[in-house]
Amino acid sequence: MNKALLVIDYTVDFVARDGALTCGEPGIALESYITELTRTFLDEGQFVVMPVDVHKLDDPYHPETKLFPPHNIRGTAGRDLYGSLQSLYQERKEEIHWMDKTRYSAFAGTDLDILLRSRGITEIHLVGVCTDICILHTSVDAYNLGYDITIHERGVASFDPAGHEWALRHFKNTLGATVIE
Ligand code: ZN
Repeated sequence: MNKALLVIDYTVDFVARDGALTCGEPGIALESYITELTRTFLDEGQFVVMPVDVHKLDDPYHPETKLFPPHNIRGTAGRDLYGSLQSLYQERKEEIHWMDKTRYSAFAGTDLDILLRSRGITEIHLVGVCTDICILHTSVDAYNLGYDITIHERGVASFDPAGHEWALRHFKNTLGATVIE
């Protein structure tokens, strides 16, 4: 079966200790799991997508400007992938599909659905941050579009432990996702 891995927002700004909008230790702890899972998907020849948030500084038209401090500003190192994932990306860039996104969901305003459909992909695997924001919103859109969803529990994290736990239950009980422990 054709499947895809979506590695969502695993960037310096969202993960590093001094990142602009970091989820901190829980995010840092995912590093080797996410890098190894990405390597496995690449070695199997599966489609790997890196949907990564992008913003303009102080964009008056973007709703997040009022909600969060500036983060993932285009052209800054905050948008680099974090740690060993960045090294893997540098090594295997040609095999990885980088995707700028401007909203929480990787489907909002992108061609992700078209890319998946054209490859006959019906099963998507999600890792990255934050469990209860970008992973959640991407999963809701994937559910509405009819994809089979797998969430890797060891590959997702949030700055908000209660939100993380709630989202894991929501994936399973409401979106019918497979949650791999
Ligand atoms: Zn953002």
